[in-house]
Amino acid sequence: MEEFCKSLPKVELHAHINGSVSEVTIQKLLAKKRNFDQSFSFKKGSTATLKECFEKFRLIHQLTDNAKSVYQVTYDVIHEFHEDNVKYLELRSTPRAVQDTGMSKESYVESVLRAIRDCKDLDIKVRLLLAIDRRNGVQVGWETLKLAQKFQESHRDLIAGIDLSGDPNVGDARDYLPIFREAKKSGLKLALHLCEVPAPEETMDMLNLPPDRIGHGTCLHREAGGNQEFVDTVLKHNTPLELCLTSNLIGQTVPNLDNHQFKFWYEKKHPCIICTDDKGVFSTSLSEEYQLAASTFDLKQCDLWNLSEQSINYAFCEENVKEKLRDKFKVYKSKIEEQFNIKL
Ligand code: 5GP
Repeated sequence: MEEFCKSLPKVELHAHINGSVSEVTIQKLLAKKRNFDQSFSFKKGSTATLKECFEKFRLIHQLTDNAKSVYQVTYDVIHEFHEDNVKYLELRSTPRAVQDTGMSKESYVESVLRAIRDCKDLDIKVRLLLAIDRRNGVQVGWETLKLAQKFQESHRDLIAGIDLSGDPNVGDARDYLPIFREAKKSGLKLALHLCEVPAPEETMDMLNLPPDRIGHGTCLHREAGGNQEFVDTVLKHNTPLELCLTSNLIGQTVPNLDNHQFKFWYEKKHPCIICTDDKGVFSTSLSEEYQLAASTFDLKQCDLWNLSEQSINYAFCEENVKEKLRDKFKVYKSKIEEQFNIKL
């Protein structure tokens, strides 16, 4: 299965740039810094609290505190996904300003976009979502939307949407609803982290927006602290779920993989997308996530193929890009069938 998952052409729709930084890139960045003796990722099989996960992002942010590093990280992350046979990648990142290094939020986004452009000759299409961190408040949220709208004008083909992320225990997502409604009007898609932890007050209004995709949705169903109304609403809107097994396991938002929400939604034939979340921090890759899904939920090669191919439907790119991807997948299908002597 390992080789099959590696050969499988894949679509990554939930990857935070700073959480995706590999050990190799960390070493490059550390070479430019002094007095840093920290661990930036969790080893396979380890567990942590959500607070400890967010502490890792804070550490990484200290390394990516200038436009050059942001460029380097984005460039390397794209190459790494490409090496893992990812054919379409949506990155998301929180624009950050650092006074000491002269990095503004604009130069942050420019660095990310420049790295994406510089990878255009690779066989991987990349799009960007600007992230609103719920720890930073509504005012900053509006600024992020304005930034997205501005860059939408100059880079219409690359800016795909808005993400809501950051510590789910902080703030109330409903405060950001006017921003998301405005974003929708501008043609920006919405990928929102919802119900990573039980959130009975805010969830219903958020689901009814509705977002274009939900990040995690760990606690939507009753057994995980949600309720049937949440489930019915997600089903009614057919809102796809971005599911990140290793991330949820290490961050302990699920007790174990057998109880991961993937099973609940997959059995309902609801759109499920396997994603990495933070491949660097959680020491994983998209191939490994597919492998893990296969071994945990007893999926066959054809199930994995279908999951990967159907992810194209939920991407935030133009229809013609999706068509090209589907054509590409057709070619890969025959190659893989021949390579593994199977019928997909
Ligand atoms: P960045 O936006 O700086 O490129 O990536 C790191 C940021 O992504 C973190 O500071 C956090 O706001 C967000 N993030 C990464 N992983 C998760 C996650 O699993 N849940 C939530 N809610 N936010 C996350």
